[in-house]
Amino acid sequence: MRDLEIDGIGMTSRRTRERLIQRLMDQGIQSGKVLDAIRTIPRHLFLDEALAHRAYEDTALPIGHNQTLSQPYIVAKMTEVLLARGELNKVLEIGTGSGYQTAVLASLVARVCSVERIRPLQEKAQQRLSRLSLNNVRLRHTDGGMGWPEESPFDGIIVTAAPGEIPAALLSQLSPEGGRLVIPVGGHNFQDLVLVTRNGDEYQRKVLEAVRFVPLLAGVIR
Ligand code: SAH
Repeated sequence: MRDLEIDGIGMTSRRTRERLIQRLMDQGIQSGKVLDAIRTIPRHLFLDEALAHRAYEDTALPIGHNQTLSQPYIVAKMTEVLLARGELNKVLEIGTGSGYQTAVLASLVARVCSVERIRPLQEKAQQRLSRLSLNNVRLRHTDGGMGWPEESPFDGIIVTAAPGEIPAALLSQLSPEGGRLVIPVGGHNFQDLVLVTRNGDEYQRKVLEAVRFVPLLAGVIR
């Protein structure tokens, strides 16, 4: 990957990035690989210029269309949980949004598939990922409640918008050999971050912590 310091906010970003990494460690993120991915991926390139100077704050930021780029802690936490049992070959993300979480995943796993229901967000994300030469990513404009059956099974699925209930299609597209789903589940204000692990026909469910995501919505926007 090209060093993109020059494109953005210059030398200050290196220091502010280190401060963010320290903050993530203080909050309990332990995976060196995940911390390295967050250190490397230029989050400022996934935001509009007017917000780029806030890219390394540990906060969610708006990306238009009433959607948000998740807080770095949440991106780190979900990625760490997804990868906790070792390396994954193929991962599905529901809710590409800015493409930032997609980029973090793409630097850690062999293949990433990601779906987004809002076409303009998907197109912008595609441009950013291409610019970073992250070529192990496939994006699709579709309703992620259906998953991506043609690409399944997935070793991991990460959902970055919250449904009231876990969509059955996602469970069925998990690899039967330890496939892992990380998903916020619940109402509009707060949800539980849930890890589901599949072994054969058994689905083990573990609640991790309280989170706040935008809702998983049905249908697509062109
Ligand atoms: N991972 C994103 C987070 C974006 S917010 C990032 O790093 O920027 C969640 C995203 O999920 C939004 O872009 C929203 O449009 C999308 N989304 C919501 N419901 C969806 C659905 N049913 N299918 C696909 N994407 C969906």
